[in-house]
Amino acid sequence: MVLNKVTSLIENRSPLELTQKPLPVPGNRELLIKVSVCGVCHTELDEIEGRTMPSILPIIPGHQIIGRVERRGNGSQRFNDGERVGIAWIHSACGTCKFCRNGMENLCDDFKATGRDADGGYAEYTVVHEDFAYLIPERFSDAQAAPLLCAGAIGYRSLRLTGMHDGENIGLTGFGASAHLVLKMVKHLYPQTGVYVFSRTEQERIFAKELGAAWSGDTEEEAPAKLHAIIDTTPAWKPVVNAMRNLEKSGRLVINAIRKEEWDKDMLRELDYPRDLWMEKEVKSVANITRKDVDDFLKLAANIPIIPDVQEYSLEDANTALLELKERKIRGAKVLRIA
Ligand SMILES: [Zn+2]
Ligand SMILES: [Zn+2]
Repeated sequence: MVLNKVTSLIENRSPLELTQKPLPVPGNRELLIKVSVCGVCHTELDEIEGRTMPSILPIIPGHQIIGRVERRGNGSQRFNDGERVGIAWIHSACGTCKFCRNGMENLCDDFKATGRDADGGYAEYTVVHEDFAYLIPERFSDAQAAPLLCAGAIGYRSLRLTGMHDGENIGLTGFGASAHLVLKMVKHLYPQTGVYVFSRTEQERIFAKELGAAWSGDTEEEAPAKLHAIIDTTPAWKPVVNAMRNLEKSGRLVINAIRKEEWDKDMLRELDYPRDLWMEKEVKSVANITRKDVDDFLKLAANIPIIPDVQEYSLEDANTALLELKERKIRGAKVLRIA
């Protein structure tokens, strides 16, 4: 399923086209992967609508890939033929800059993203450098493992960046694929912590309560307790303003969104300095992901275990899955079943 040009999903409800392409050839230390499932991520909407521009067009999107090694390029040694591997958002980084050398390859100037700067997993086959592929713990099925690679791993990075401790309240604003996995992580890592969920859809609020949230309410509501940290996974600005209001003194808002949409940016005028920012409140974004985040999170997820709730679609129905994501018809994580 190929994106030929950046477009608006409101005007064009089928932005991806089913296309026959030649089988990619793995270069030195690369792997040809036969894709089994690929997760559907909100970032695909940002790519299609041009908020984060694909650096090549046409491009095959998709960066939560589970598949098996079909063929290995020269010098590939890390994996065996037929072995199950995953591919995540980080497709490559330079490896030599000061960020790469200091454990921050997610901030590399040459960061290349799977499905945006290199063909991804909305396809039967894809190619990746073996250093950017992961072994998948056995306890996960292919469909369960796919959403762990982005929604889960970036959720894990977001949670780390909150700097929170057990017993401190955390808020989640937006309750899609990533947030529902973060809730499961928090329950395990911080058993004394209360989780407060803000969502504009009732379905998500009910789902949050089912998964053990202490409270769930609408995006503009005030939580019954002040929150030490809030993770925002929404594309909008109103949740940011409301989150700042709900933060405890010195609390931190972590924005886990590659881009925000522009339509409600005026909401930022409602920020009230004494109420929303004074008292050392902080705002931080989460950018990309490192291989260590993915590896650490896969191990954690297998231990807990975190088994994502998934909804499967066929590859041909990728446009439907994306539209439902846009319209927030969400329960758990969406994945494309390819083989
Ligand atoms: Zn993603
Ligand atoms: Zn670098």
